[in-house]
Amino acid sequence: MSKLVSVDVVIFGGGIAGLWALARLRQAGYAAILLETKTLGGLQTIAAQGIIHGGAKYALTGSASDATQAIGDMPQRWRACLAGEGELDLSRVRVLSQHQYLWSTESIGSRMTGFFASKLMRSRMAAVEGVDRPKLLQSTAFKGNVYRLEEPVLDVPSLVAELVRQQGDACFQIEPDAVQLDAAQPGCVKIATSAGSVSIQAQQLVLAAGAGNESLLKQLDRETPQMQRRPLHMLMARGPLPLLYAHCLGASANPRLTITSYPLAEGEIVWHLGGQVAESGVASDEKEHIAAGQAELAALLPWLDLTDIHWATRRIDRAEIATPGGKRPDSWLVHSERDVITAWPTKLAFAPCLAADVLHCLEQDGVRPSGDGTVSIDLPCAPLAQPPWNEVKRWS
Ligand SMILES: Cc1cc2nc3c(=O)[nH]c(=O)nc-3n(C[C@H](O)[C@H](O)[C@H](O)COP(=O)(O)OP(=O)(O)OC[C@H]3O[C@@H](n4cnc5c(N)ncnc54)[C@H](O)[C@@H]3O)c2cc1C
Repeated sequence: MSKLVSVDVVIFGGGIAGLWALARLRQAGYAAILLETKTLGGLQTIAAQGIIHGGAKYALTGSASDATQAIGDMPQRWRACLAGEGELDLSRVRVLSQHQYLWSTESIGSRMTGFFASKLMRSRMAAVEGVDRPKLLQSTAFKGNVYRLEEPVLDVPSLVAELVRQQGDACFQIEPDAVQLDAAQPGCVKIATSAGSVSIQAQQLVLAAGAGNESLLKQLDRETPQMQRRPLHMLMARGPLPLLYAHCLGASANPRLTITSYPLAEGEIVWHLGGQVAESGVASDEKEHIAAGQAELAALLPWLDLTDIHWATRRIDRAEIATPGGKRPDSWLVHSERDVITAWPTKLAFAPCLAADVLHCLEQDGVRPSGDGTVSIDLPCAPLAQPPWNEVKRWS
């Protein structure tokens, strides 16, 4: 049996981009629903380190680029939400650390010295000494400098759980092959179900499916916007580790290592290791990559005891707007064309900007809320994603 449902907007993808946009659209009165093929929390989102960047990492490349300007406002915007005073109420979301730290080895180049002295960075970071440093960097063996950045680090699983608590009633699970899109009439979405089919008529589609946007655009016969993938090989270490939320700077402009920590219920800590180490390990197999991670920690933090630490790795592609040379895009992308909005946030931190631009595009395209915002649809609810450390089958 076929059922027809009318909505204002259908969002594809339940990562941070789709969930934040759904919340803002429903707040504005739109009858919006979200369709997800796997789990709410996405692929990249649930793997994210949770840093709400304020620009320090971007500014490391040497210039105050567009990205540095755009991202500078993000910590403040998120902090307002975390205090329950922003565009979304995220007061139930756990903040793992109010600050992110930056530590430099003794051997940083002169360009980096200029960076620390720059006017731009002086307003965003402060040198810290003694007990104000993270415990691990209070060791007498440590010889570098430590700076505190005004960048909170969020518990991403708790962020996702809270957004789903608020918006889960409008998030539905679909089988990847069950959706039929019509290039001539993008607003007509047909979904095959075990009980027949559901036809949804929408004023506009929002493609916020991360890497999945590529095949959705193909189904709609669209050649633009084009997407790029930048692969990562993340490392996770688990055991009696101290809490640390910090980038380590080496001689180059990109952070050599980014460590974030997640306290597990059993009292252990999981470290996520990102930065250069995750990018350069893409060609390595699991064993080689773990060995490289261990060598990196032994080189940078030789006083850290790694005896009882277990290791795992995880591959994930970052999906974003294509750039010349495949470089990191400067900001989020929202592209509106003939009843279809395509969006990639580039960073979890940019989700509020992405959602605001989606709202703006709808207004510009004359798409107005058509009813009281409620939708009843006969599809199953999409389940919540598991944190990456729960998905690991084997720890070394
Ligand atoms: C390892 C790692 C660490 C990161 N750390 C940070 C950080 O600390 N701070 C930061 O700001 N950013 C960080 N990022 C970037 C950030 O995670 C991403 O920019 C952001 O999560 C992307 O969100 P998204 O919603 O676009 O995509 P995703 O989270 O990938 O979600 C896309 C969703 O769409 C679904 N989907 C796919 N195809 C379809 C379809 N056809 N129909 C319906 N649904 C579909 C997928 O199943 C998925 O749930 C990190 C990224 C990675 C990979």
